[in-house]
Amino acid sequence: MIFTSTKNNKEAVGFRTAALNGLASNKGLYVPTFMPKLRTEILESGVFGPEEAAQVMQLFIGEDIPLKKLTEILDQTLAFDFPLVQIGADKYCLELFHGPTKAFKDVGARFMSRVLGYFKAQDSNKSHVLVATSGDTGAAVANGFLNIDGVEVHILFPKGKVSEYQERQMTTLGGNINAYEVEGTFDDCQSLVKQAFSDNGLKQKMSLSSANSINVARFLPQMLYYFIASNTLKNKNLNNITYSVPSGNFGNLTAGLYANALGLPVENFIASTNRNDTFINYLVSGTYEPKPSVLTYSNAMDVGAPSNFTRILDLFDNDWQAIKGKIDGIAVSDEKTLQIMDRIHAATGYIIDPHGAVGYLGLETYQKEGDTGVVLGTASPLKFSSVIQKVVPSFETPDAGSKTVFKTSIKNDYKSFLEVLLS
Ligand SMILES: *Cc1c(COP(=O)(O)O)cnc(C)c1O
Repeated sequence: MIFTSTKNNKEAVGFRTAALNGLASNKGLYVPTFMPKLRTEILESGVFGPEEAAQVMQLFIGEDIPLKKLTEILDQTLAFDFPLVQIGADKYCLELFHGPTKAFKDVGARFMSRVLGYFKAQDSNKSHVLVATSGDTGAAVANGFLNIDGVEVHILFPKGKVSEYQERQMTTLGGNINAYEVEGTFDDCQSLVKQAFSDNGLKQKMSLSSANSINVARFLPQMLYYFIASNTLKNKNLNNITYSVPSGNFGNLTAGLYANALGLPVENFIASTNRNDTFINYLVSGTYEPKPSVLTYSNAMDVGAPSNFTRILDLFDNDWQAIKGKIDGIAVSDEKTLQIMDRIHAATGYIIDPHGAVGYLGLETYQKEGDTGVVLGTASPLKFSSVIQKVVPSFETPDAGSKTVFKTSIKNDYKSFLEVLLS
């Protein structure tokens, strides 16, 4: 597959280069030059494991990773459960949080780290992966990349603005994982990373890549969730499926749209956000106006300028009507989020995390009669215990453990960052 940039349609690279570069030219995102079609037998066999996953991924990866190796990578990537738990009459939660860091980002991070490790084994030049995080991304990336040869990871997180549990996940690994605690906000971390990517002097000294969902190697494997869930439901004779996706940077939702474009049947998608409603406003008005993010209980979705938006525009050829035809959208307040968590818990005993709760309201609002609704359970409630306790006071905070912490504190300025990066 040839990928091009959303900002420069003259760029043409294969999967390998797209994954190693992260960001495309002119700060665009890599998108495929056409949408391949899946052989429908894959969807009919009733089985969806690493071999089927490899056939899906190969549509975009081509010869850059041999099928046997790709299957092996996917076998390791998907080495935990993806239970589909019924939480309402025709509503399910696809629990994507049974990986090592308890959030759905494990799949993308595990896949990407193994892919980069494979590419790096063929070249001696070390790759430096830079990533800004509000919590979950850093944890998943740290875990996925630990001890991968040829790759050094640099994680920037805002001081005091990630949960203690998340901070431990990023700072207790050591080895090739470097964590920087920035005196600033998530947006500041993001802006330091962006400055690094546009610093040509730095790029001559080190080969940089990004592990955010702008990277095709992290973004594309997220398609597999939808295949796994649809396969499980098909085996129960449930076929008309609507997915509600708790969304921040819209990597997860866009991957669902890609799965659908490949040929996976999906009735409808629901973009469920918190008060950071840039995309929801776009659905209403047709204009895209990014704005600063605001802090909410579902903080992994506190994004005011969703980075994958341009991939959605690309997929639908900028056709606002077509986008509205496939995606409904809802913005949910913190107050409503707690109400839903409380209501689900009272009715069924199920504890849903705040991101999942946002998605659940999306289903209640837009799921059509006769359809089966699936909300993507993006994080374990354990990661957000302080929010859960507002609804279920007896919910216990997990023990953070007492491992050695490796982190470097830096000021919110590019010079300080560059200094530690080059040291
Ligand atoms: C990252 C994250 C999201 C948002 O995912 P996007 O792909 O950025 O839209 C939602 N929920 C949780 C728990 C997350 O960690």
